[in-house]
Amino acid sequence: MDDTSKNKRRIIAVLLVIALAAAAGVIMYVNRTRSYATVTFHMDTYVSYDINCPRPERAVRKMEAAVKECEELFDRFDPSSEIAKINRNAGEAVEVSEQTYVLMFNALELAKQTGGSFDPTIGALSDLWGFGDEPRIPDQDDLAECLADVGFHKVTLSRDEKGGYYVCIAKGQKLDLGAIAKGYTLNEVGFAAYKAGCREGIISLGGNVLLLGSGQDGSGYKVGVRCPDENSNSSALVLKLGDTADDTVLSTSGSYERFFWEDGVRYCHIIDPFTGDCAEKDLKSVTVISSDPRRADGLSTAYYVMGIDRTLDALASGEITGVAIDRYGTIYISEDLMDKVVPDSVAEGYELEVVG
Ligand code: AMP
Ligand code: MG
Repeated sequence: MDDTSKNKRRIIAVLLVIALAAAAGVIMYVNRTRSYATVTFHMDTYVSYDINCPRPERAVRKMEAAVKECEELFDRFDPSSEIAKINRNAGEAVEVSEQTYVLMFNALELAKQTGGSFDPTIGALSDLWGFGDEPRIPDQDDLAECLADVGFHKVTLSRDEKGGYYVCIAKGQKLDLGAIAKGYTLNEVGFAAYKAGCREGIISLGGNVLLLGSGQDGSGYKVGVRCPDENSNSSALVLKLGDTADDTVLSTSGSYERFFWEDGVRYCHIIDPFTGDCAEKDLKSVTVISSDPRRADGLSTAYYVMGIDRTLDALASGEITGVAIDRYGTIYISEDLMDKVVPDSVAEGYELEVVG
């Protein structure tokens, strides 16, 4: 081999090494994890993303698309949503997307499990109380009339031979998926995050918080359970959660989220499907912790409705993992959360009690 060909080979080898190094650099750059935080507004609430992964802006775009899709399907105040279409056609089977069908399936399962304390057919009652626009105490006759139409067992789900999905509510019924739609949406957000290669972060949607993976050092995340007082933004208690293989979700239902006062009584947006009443009683908030966002969301609403005795029983028996805060400032936690409480995190004026 003469000198010229040797030199040529050397040059090609050097160029190859440079090209490989550049490619490796690009791959490392693309795969480098970065922290990114942003807030958007959907489903009548703030959605906050605080994530750490490669290409986090792209991951948020994917998660945001999942939120928008759910919002468009489930917002009963938007006439073009599928839930609004079902409500307009009460008494008829309405063809819906697979997502709406699955949401309804999940909602009916939860309604059964909670003996109807969570009931997605409370729509007419919600309208009567006016929590969508102008809250007011309804006329008792109107309330009795609406109450007669509430009942999740009157809803039917069906499929046709072509695989279409149908939902049929009874005449006079109206759906309100407000107590589970955000949980369902967070479930979809979780899938979108994983598909986008995002394994770490906190995504919060209204009173629902999704913890992806187990944090930067694998030991979990510190998450506050909100003080259930009006205008408060501080935590009543801080928990260290998410140190498991599964994602973790916290859902809080509370009287402080949407309410009005009349004659010294606070009326909140969570309605008892058996009485039609929504006056605050002993509980100010219930937080359910689960790996399934739909379950956490639906159950936090259901136990808020069931009240303090039933909620404390559920915390004590291990039926749910969670936190309940009463009107006297006692924070009840299930026994399995005892070692998750961040030391000295209980806010002034509150007292911690472990049940079980
Ligand atoms: P959440 O904040 O998850 O507890 O959901 C509260 C929302 O769910 C309310 O604003 C209503 O839209 C709806 N809702 C109220 N009471 C109930 C109930 N008993 N069962 C199902 N949904 C309810
Ligand atoms: Mg809920």
